[in-house]
Amino acid sequence: NGAPKQPPMPSPLRFSKFFQSNMRILVTGGAGFIGSHLVDKLMENEKNEVIVADNFFTGSKDNLKRWIGHPRFELIRHDVTEQLLIEVDQIYHLACPASPIFYKYNPVKTIKTNVIGTLNMLGLAKRVGARILLTSTSEVYGDPLVHPQPESYWGNVNPIGVRSCYDEGKRVAETLMFDYHRQHGLEIRIARIFNTYGPRMNIDDGRVVSNFIAQAIRGEPLTVQVPGTQTRSFCYVSDMVDGLIRLMEGENTGPINIGNPGEFTMTELAENVKELINPAVEIKMVENTPDDPRQRKPDITKAKELLGWEPKVKLRDGLPLMEEDFRQRLGVPKKN
Ligand code: NAD
Ligand code: UDP
Ligand code: UDP
Repeated sequence: NGAPKQPPMPSPLRFSKFFQSNMRILVTGGAGFIGSHLVDKLMENEKNEVIVADNFFTGSKDNLKRWIGHPRFELIRHDVTEQLLIEVDQIYHLACPASPIFYKYNPVKTIKTNVIGTLNMLGLAKRVGARILLTSTSEVYGDPLVHPQPESYWGNVNPIGVRSCYDEGKRVAETLMFDYHRQHGLEIRIARIFNTYGPRMNIDDGRVVSNFIAQAIRGEPLTVQVPGTQTRSFCYVSDMVDGLIRLMEGENTGPINIGNPGEFTMTELAENVKELINPAVEIKMVENTPDDPRQRKPDITKAKELLGWEPKVKLRDGLPLMEEDFRQRLGVPKKN
């Protein structure tokens, strides 16, 4: 009708972006072990504002206490299986219990967190145009028939076992990420994380590194689950956080393995902990749980080539770095 066309109103997000160059970053699961170390690193950059959304199932406010009240930090009690309406530029989506005893505790909730939680974070990313990174897992390879595991390996996963809520949940989460990428053009990043350890691991989460360190400090036998020849590769948490940030900031969608290729049997791990932390403790063989993968080691060729990343901290250097944190929380000071 000849009337001049009005320019579109800027959305509140675009409007605020016009005035401030800060990067607003959501970390789901940011009160947990890896998430809280990631928050520490992101907060070092004064251009970052960090929002954590966490339901505190396995995480705690204690892990974030140094940031509570900081003007660039916000903590929201939120369950990712519910809708979240906020404005952000990047999403690190970590929310999900990671330790077998916690993810098996309420398996239906675990799969909802992986599927509905990831769907909601993708819906949020789509609405605000944010880049989103998913922390997937080496468990997508199941009990692998290829060793070490490259990203191209499709895995050997039991779809109806007791670990499936986690393994298959993460596999669906990866599928959702790629479907939103192909269908809606979302910028996605997928990290396949291998076993990670460091300060702030839950003391009672039943994972092998936290178990052995707590047992050594308490002077209890180190419980190696049979056969003891099963292997894992352990990545120190500062290396993991560095890899996740490089992946987010880089140009590759992934999936990319992030882990330390140093491979140890559980018996070797126990011997190392004994030697480094308490030579007086015994090593005891105990029963294992079903579907325990026999071997696991990342092929990190892609991370090296595409992200220029490789881990720096060796297992024998990383284990003692956990000791002081565990001693403090267990109330067992070191004897001189
Ligand atoms: P963690 O249990 O310490 O942290 C997970 C966090 O997510 C916790 O703070 C928990 O309260 C929160 N959370 C769980 N369900 C939620 C929900 N429904 N809504 C909101 N928050 C929720 O575990 P972590 O070791 O820090 O693992 C972080 C991520 O890395 C997870 O996605 C995990 O699958 C992945 N990962 C970890 C490892 C490892 O070795 N630690 C290995 C592979 C993958
Ligand atoms: N969602 C959200 N925050 C948003 C936008 C969407 O939590 O800012 C959730 C929403 O509840 C939905 C999911 O993300 O269930 C997927 O959103 P999408 O827009 O992709 O799908 P639709 O709503 O059309 O099913
Ligand atoms: N494990 C062990 N003693 C323990 C706890 C675990 O020997 O006290 C073994 C377990 O059988 C598995 C390995 O350590 O082979 C890693 O188990 P964890 O639960 O830490 O991680 P995931 O199985 O998820 O890799």
